[in-house]
Amino acid sequence: MSTDYPLRDGVTRFLSDDPGRLLIGGQWRDAEDGARFATIDPATGRSLADVSRGQQADVDRAVAAARQALTDGPWPTMAPAARSMLLWRIADLMEAHLDELAEIETLDQGKNWRTSRFGEIPAAINQFRYYAGWPTKITGETIPASVGRTPPGKQLFAYTRREPVGVVGAIVPWNSPMVMTAMKLAPALAAGCTIVLKPAENTPLSALYLGRLLQEAGLPDGVVNIVTGFGAEAGQALADHRGVDKIAFTGSTAVGKRLLTSAAGNLKRLTLELGGKSPSIVMPDADLDAAIAGVSSGIFDNGGQVCVASARIYAHRDVYDEVVAGMAARGEALRLGHGLDPAADLGPLVSAAQAARVEDFIAEGRAEGATVVTGGERSGDTFYSPTVLTGVAASARLMREEIFGPVAVVTPFDEVDEVVGWANDSPYGLAASVWTEGLSNAHRIAARLQAGTVRVNCHSFLGPDLPKGGHKESGWGYENGPQGLENYLETKSVVMVL
Ligand code: NAD
Repeated sequence: MSTDYPLRDGVTRFLSDDPGRLLIGGQWRDAEDGARFATIDPATGRSLADVSRGQQADVDRAVAAARQALTDGPWPTMAPAARSMLLWRIADLMEAHLDELAEIETLDQGKNWRTSRFGEIPAAINQFRYYAGWPTKITGETIPASVGRTPPGKQLFAYTRREPVGVVGAIVPWNSPMVMTAMKLAPALAAGCTIVLKPAENTPLSALYLGRLLQEAGLPDGVVNIVTGFGAEAGQALADHRGVDKIAFTGSTAVGKRLLTSAAGNLKRLTLELGGKSPSIVMPDADLDAAIAGVSSGIFDNGGQVCVASARIYAHRDVYDEVVAGMAARGEALRLGHGLDPAADLGPLVSAAQAARVEDFIAEGRAEGATVVTGGERSGDTFYSPTVLTGVAASARLMREEIFGPVAVVTPFDEVDEVVGWANDSPYGLAASVWTEGLSNAHRIAARLQAGTVRVNCHSFLGPDLPKGGHKESGWGYENGPQGLENYLETKSVVMVL
């Protein structure tokens, strides 16, 4: 597979200009011990750049810089309207460099260029635009307080202030790096916090490019610091750090659970956006073309490396055969190839390890008697064909665990009660979709599904104004919308005797 696609000048310049240093206190610098690791193009296995391998000492310096920027300098006294302008300026600069950001995301993560260029980078820009509106609307309340021991002749005056939670450690996964980064940075900046960002080790480049744009936008030094490195090193050091007031984490449920222990040290605030195994229910009255297209893209887009991927499809028995055949046809029509190949629809998985993981799941399914309707093939180190499975037991790992690959399991159902029970029979509760033309069924089923987001006649729709979060083991707290801002605010009561 050729990978020699011409790169944009801006990307070539970025990659050849030592992009892998850490951003700490406004300075680009090497890790204290000088260690580096290669970030690779998963489609080719070729190194794109050497990136600093941050450790405890680097996290210490970044947290100190974030603390200083929180208390000194222009940031803490910047007028809310000026913070709004700054967020808007960041969005404008991202838009001006949209092609470069998209190309870097595709090179580093593997996803198809069209997904980066027309889906994810614009979604990241929208985060900054949405939260740019918020700084001027963060208000407290006056409270008509009644306290029995108010001195005679005196009155009480009480109000609340909303204050930034402080220094935020933002830890981001590799599946949609720029969107996940923006989902944390934009509300945290709107709230007036300062940040140490730890990108995923597989995909650090778009965050490093963004760091340059943040500086160009005029963000004061130390407000956003970027420490690249591994989860067990830089990530763990950040999560454990007593100088960090809050961790905003997106990633696997397994790591999310570990972070509870990290947070306990100084009772830092913690929001967790974790894994999922999302069900999609196709009712017999669904618009089948739309349903098949929606659940197929819900599981095949980005190679299924999507937290809300429609991994479990429950199709009513009347339409089951059509859904299975339709999904298989859509999967077979997708052409695998380098993300920058205009003829390709689907890029590689993020790494050989991820492809091997998918391969293991499918081998286990085959051994247990599942039918592989289509797909089930790894090609090269990192490519995996869109796969549709049937005949998978409810207790199988394939049905219960997050695979994070392009693997759909389709199961027939007869009754609504039965399918709602199956859909909810999961430790996860991230997202779900229902496909029906019946209004009553849509509302009734949406109310019964245990998920942070239920979509009707669509699957992966996402916007900065739509709160999203996980129920059950899919997480704590919400991102997006006003709820996303709340993550970064504390409340202070001020009581006065006048
Ligand atoms: P991961 O948990 O392995 O890693 C996520 C981030 O945490 C990375 O930056 C990693 O370096 C860091 N990390 C790893 N170990 C750590 C530790 N001990 N301490 C601190 N940080 C550590 O997840 P991943 O494989 O990068 O991403 C895929 C997962 O993310 C999937 O489970 C997916 O469902 C989930 N995800 C969830 C959402 C959501 O909104 N709920 C969105 C995207 C991805």
